[in-house]
Amino acid sequence: TEAPATVLRAEDVAVHFGGVKAVDGVSLTLTAGRIFGILGPNGSGKSTLLAALTRLVPLTRGRLLFGDRPYERAQPHIIAARGVARTFQTVRLLPGRTVRDNIALGAESAGSRTRQQRRRAAERVDRAIERAGLTGLERHHPDELSYGYQRRVEVARAIASEPTLLLLDEPTAGMNRQERDDIASLLRDLREEGLTQLLIEHDVQMMVDTCDHLFAMNFGALIAEGEPAAVVRDPAVQEAYLGK
Ligand code: ADP
Ligand code: MG
Repeated sequence: TEAPATVLRAEDVAVHFGGVKAVDGVSLTLTAGRIFGILGPNGSGKSTLLAALTRLVPLTRGRLLFGDRPYERAQPHIIAARGVARTFQTVRLLPGRTVRDNIALGAESAGSRTRQQRRRAAERVDRAIERAGLTGLERHHPDELSYGYQRRVEVARAIASEPTLLLLDEPTAGMNRQERDDIASLLRDLREEGLTQLLIEHDVQMMVDTCDHLFAMNFGALIAEGEPAAVVRDPAVQEAYLGK
């Protein structure tokens, strides 16, 4: 069988905030149709790495490739238009708009001008609502939903754009076990459809159960990567992350 296509590559990426080396020399490759995970203690640079990959912070150094196209100088909306969607660590929904309107922002971000484009966008929204388990809640406002459901709206908004690559920053933070399992199951369904994902989560068991490949970060650098169960057992990861 052929090796899976490379979706994204980061080469020696650094993001420094003054003297803070939030990300400091990370190289990684994401291949098609797999779920990649990033483990690491608070402050290890996980969210900043996602911000670098989506061009929301300037790179201090390094190279980014989407497919084989360099994009380290591209604007965030260009990256989104090429098929990279993300959710944020803290919920970012428009409180005055319905669940459906919030999700539609994802489906329409690529610009839906013609009637046919608008109809296709509406179909993507319908599908995202169904996938994320939000059927019946379309007309609610985010503040009428539990935190777990607000996070589902975020995931739905991201998948409504039908991305090539989905980046998720702690999508199950604040959720109970059942809600976490539901999100993990949704991510696995999306993988079955070929969606490449990069997931940040603290729940080690969920990461081992969900991810095909793990990266472990500490102090802005990768300290291990590979098969999830092996990464979790790695002594450097145990010491950095699990406090053992
Ligand atoms: P994680 O997501 O792994 O918890 P972050 O990427 O949020 O880590 O943060 C990594 C480091 O960078 C932390 O020391 C944090 O305080 C710092 N940092 C993150 N964003 C900024 C910013 N915009 N300005 C200054 N420092 C930042
Ligand atoms: Mg973070």
